[in-house]
Amino acid sequence: MQLYNMTIDGVADKSTQYVDVINPATGEAFAQCQNGNVDTLNSAVSAARKAFSTWGRTSSDERRAKMHELANVLETNMPELMELITKETGKPMGGLNNVGSGMEVGGAIAWTQYTAELELAVDIAQDDADARIEVHRKPLGVVGSITPWNWPLMIAIWHVIPALRAGNTVVIKPSELTPLATMRFIELANEVLPAGVLNVVTGDGSVGAALTSHSDVNKIIFTGSTPTGKHIMASAAGNLKRLTLELGGNDAGIVLPDVDVKSTAAQLFGACFHNNGQTCAALKRLYVHEDIYEEICAEMAEHAKKVTVGNGLEEGVELGPIQNEKQLQIVMELAADAKANGGRFVAGGNRIEGPGYFFEPTLVADLKDGSRLVDEEPFGPIVPIIKYSDINDVITTSNQNDCGLGGSIWSADIEKATELAKSMECGSVWINTHGAVQPNMPFGGIKQSGFGVEFGLYGLEECTSIQALRIPK
Ligand code: NAD
Repeated sequence: MQLYNMTIDGVADKSTQYVDVINPATGEAFAQCQNGNVDTLNSAVSAARKAFSTWGRTSSDERRAKMHELANVLETNMPELMELITKETGKPMGGLNNVGSGMEVGGAIAWTQYTAELELAVDIAQDDADARIEVHRKPLGVVGSITPWNWPLMIAIWHVIPALRAGNTVVIKPSELTPLATMRFIELANEVLPAGVLNVVTGDGSVGAALTSHSDVNKIIFTGSTPTGKHIMASAAGNLKRLTLELGGNDAGIVLPDVDVKSTAAQLFGACFHNNGQTCAALKRLYVHEDIYEEICAEMAEHAKKVTVGNGLEEGVELGPIQNEKQLQIVMELAADAKANGGRFVAGGNRIEGPGYFFEPTLVADLKDGSRLVDEEPFGPIVPIIKYSDINDVITTSNQNDCGLGGSIWSADIEKATELAKSMECGSVWINTHGAVQPNMPFGGIKQSGFGVEFGLYGLEECTSIQALRIPK
């Protein structure tokens, strides 16, 4: 079985035990990795701190060039990284609408290249006979990154590249369920970067907690669940760490009666089910006007019945398994609750028998706000379709959710959709699409979906602090 090591201070760390990594399509181990602990975490933070004294002073040009070298590393090793991602997450190599491992590595390259080109210019607040006031952006120091299991490499890149580009050094702790693509990337990245600039420590939440409470870490970038985000916020208080928290979402999509049913249903299906619904900004609550409700349900059900579910390494597979058994149990529990409370299953509803953690793509009609499947984030292939009659009422009820990550309005009338979009309570709103994240569009949640943004200059600035400099004339 292939073995994977942590990289600390530029070298492979083999100081602890190896643990299994499971392929969710088979339920069996396919590789082993080093299991980090608080000691290895402390070594990684020391290495990052030492490296910061030089990396933090490199020029912007030097760091831009290094980020482009990292993009080349990703590109050169794309086939290997794709296969690792498919084996550890279950996500197909290609996938529904090409949302699969190819897109994950391709996206990682695109985000790295885009972020490499961003510049933190000096802002001039005053320049007159009295004084010149310059506002500089300085790196924070050591950034701790903690990632989830759904898009492990892409999210690692979203954290690591802006942090490094701004002059910070990094210790990343990937999810214990999907550590391998990140470990391999960081091993390769260390052939390009100076020792200690980018370190990876594996392990479960206890290692994550040690990172968030470490007195020599200056910022945490965390993507994961809302309960973990709350623990991190409390734990980071000791030395007043900066935080970016990208937490759970329960995105609403509101469909107006003027849409073309057939083409919209196809797009909605993709928005709900790509990566099996295991995407923070997947469409998770679908509100459809009563005039087209049954038609949309029927059209989407056709897609659900036709989509190819299987082992993501096989050609033509569109949806893989749920990534882990615990998440499968959550999906099954929400399906049972929906069944017991009047949900009409227009597609799916059952676990797919056999090895691996497979569940049928499932659509549930006739539920209302207040039912668990509508109010809670399932993070799996099950979506409620809720009927509405009044647009103002549905905007109000759909906003009555603790989450505020993304949302969408679907209509032939773009002007009207744009106005409605502004009244949705969430960090990103899309019109006639959903979850279309891109490197130049800031992305982040409000309410209990977290705070802070990633991507573009807004995201880069979050990896810095301001130094205001007054120069007398
Ligand atoms: P999770 O919170 O269980 O775990 C995420 C990471 O946090 C893992 O690496 C885990 O080991 C670590 N962790 C666990 N306890 C910790 C603690 N006390 N201190 C520090 N670290 C700790 O989340 P998950 O199940 O891996 O991911 C699914 C969740 O992530 C969903 O809610 C999803 O919506 C959310 N998510 C959000 C975004 C976004 O951008 N907003 C993106 C992807 C996923």
